[in-house]
Amino acid sequence: MFTTLNYSPNFDLKKRKIKDIKFIVFHYTGMKNEKQAIRKLTDTNSKVSSHYLIKNNGEILTLVPDLYIAWHAGISHWKKYKSLNKNSIGIEISNPGHDFKYKKFSKKQILAILKLSRFLFKKYKIKANNFLGHSDIAPDRKIDPGEKFPWKYLSKKKIGYWHSLNNQKLLKERSLSTNNYEKMKFSRNLHIIGYTNKTKKNKKKYFKIICSAFQRRYRQELINGIIDKECLSISENLLKKLK
Ligand SMILES: [Zn+2]
Repeated sequence: MFTTLNYSPNFDLKKRKIKDIKFIVFHYTGMKNEKQAIRKLTDTNSKVSSHYLIKNNGEILTLVPDLYIAWHAGISHWKKYKSLNKNSIGIEISNPGHDFKYKKFSKKQILAILKLSRFLFKKYKIKANNFLGHSDIAPDRKIDPGEKFPWKYLSKKKIGYWHSLNNQKLLKERSLSTNNYEKMKFSRNLHIIGYTNKTKKNKKKYFKIICSAFQRRYRQELINGIIDKECLSISENLLKKLK
């Protein structure tokens, strides 16, 4: 194995089955420094953990073995799944995050993300569209791993997926307003992709949040929660890939 063991006590004692592992969820640590982050993820009192942690220098730590349920996702939804801890492997990537000068992921980290993702993809036959960000599954609470996460690069290596639209063409659609029919279509597309908008109160506000989560992942240059023609085109193109 290419990882270093550094166990965390924060996991469910009951073992799960290999077939329960369906998703990979990426996070950033969001703490001022790496040592602090590792301490937190391995501290009994914190009640949080993940399966892996990728350090700034690209070193990969195993905190919880894959067949145990780590505590990384919290309240979360994706398609028909709820509380994704039981069905996912959590990967934390060292980065101070938006609270402490969010920075670009290092080359070494990106190579480590790729190596680990490929390994898990093969081992558990994870579908391309089941590689997710924490913000995809908990959009009202989380914005990690954030808009600097290399989704586009990873998709070229068959980890996750990305649209195949021409960037120049897309740029012309940026900020062009959509009508009600198009908004509805976009909302439906997001639902098919997996984003859920189950909420009792303030559906409009919640939808804006989901739209931002979508942008943070697929239109990383502008995150404003407004459905423009570019967002609609991207969602249409992604749907074709899901079929
Ligand atoms: Zn997270």
